[in-house]
Amino acid sequence: MTAMAATVIDGVALAGRLRETIDEELRVLRMSSVTPGLATIMVGEDAGASAYERHVRGLAEGLDYHYVAERLPADVELADVLATIGKLNADPRVTGVLVLRPLPGHLPEAEINATVDPRKDIEGQHPENAGLLALGRPRFVPSTPASCFYLLDSYARSSGVEPADFYVGKTLVVVGRSTSVGKPAQWLGLERHATVIAAHSRTASSGRLAEATSQADILIVAAGRPGLVTGEMVREGVIAVDVGFHAVPSKDGGPTRFTGDLDFDSVAAKAEAITPVPGGVGPITDVWLVGNTLVAAALSARVEPRFGSAV
Ligand code: NAP
Repeated sequence: MTAMAATVIDGVALAGRLRETIDEELRVLRMSSVTPGLATIMVGEDAGASAYERHVRGLAEGLDYHYVAERLPADVELADVLATIGKLNADPRVTGVLVLRPLPGHLPEAEINATVDPRKDIEGQHPENAGLLALGRPRFVPSTPASCFYLLDSYARSSGVEPADFYVGKTLVVVGRSTSVGKPAQWLGLERHATVIAAHSRTASSGRLAEATSQADILIVAAGRPGLVTGEMVREGVIAVDVGFHAVPSKDGGPTRFTGDLDFDSVAAKAEAITPVPGGVGPITDVWLVGNTLVAAALSARVEPRFGSAV
């Protein structure tokens, strides 16, 4: 049996196109004197969160957004985090607020999510926004699952299939059920009429992960476990999206490598299409967040946003 030559879906090129759609919409919004403003809150020091903040800041400033970076010490009290969020909620120049993860263990994530003004909650983590998304009426689609479906929809179009038809009759397996990635990816798959299977750590600990993943026509893996899904666990012709992002320090002083939750080579040998790490989900996630900030700015100005309507 000869291995399939999988299409490697180019997230960097797609992110560039997505950014162009933001540019176009910004031009229209500016005619109504609307300027998006993004605020990030980082608690403590985390290399991944710092890198994400730098990317998002670069994108936001490149688009002439107002930008505010709040840094709080790792041992900050909850009251001070909530006060910082309250200050940003009240600032009319800030249209979107992003609390960077991970948060130190003493800070209750749910309470923090619920304190962000739901109209500035660009990651869609406030209960009101999570509820709207689950109901199929999203205000903000969280950026990482949005990126997964932007990649998949784009791949469908490039194969000559409309996204409206692409998922019907296909089994979508999502590995991971976090509120920021796994669950919203399941909801977005259901909205597209895929048959959705949700797998998680207990699926794995009961020895049934491969049974789940091998049913996937489309597979989204967001487990945070490097190389978790191997070629033996997928069927021929799978379309595989890798959300995982892991730094692998070099042993001999060379550059740090990055890998995902898929064992890329063995899955690519069987896949019809696959997203790489880096250069797959990540670049679109960053642009999506900046797009959600624009949506928030439009909503605050009572202008109907166009960005995000495709996901
Ligand atoms: P998370 O909150 O830690 O959630 C991980 C999920 O995976 C949980 O639902 C967990 O199950 C499940 N899981 C853990 N081990 C598993 C296993 N062995 N088999 C099956 N499922 C397992 O992580 P997250 O925030 O969703 O992020 C997941 C990954 O995506 C991380 O690597 C993160 O770095 C990456 N990420 C990338 C981007 C990007 O833009 N590229 C953005 C966000 C996150 P339980 O619910 O049972 O615990």
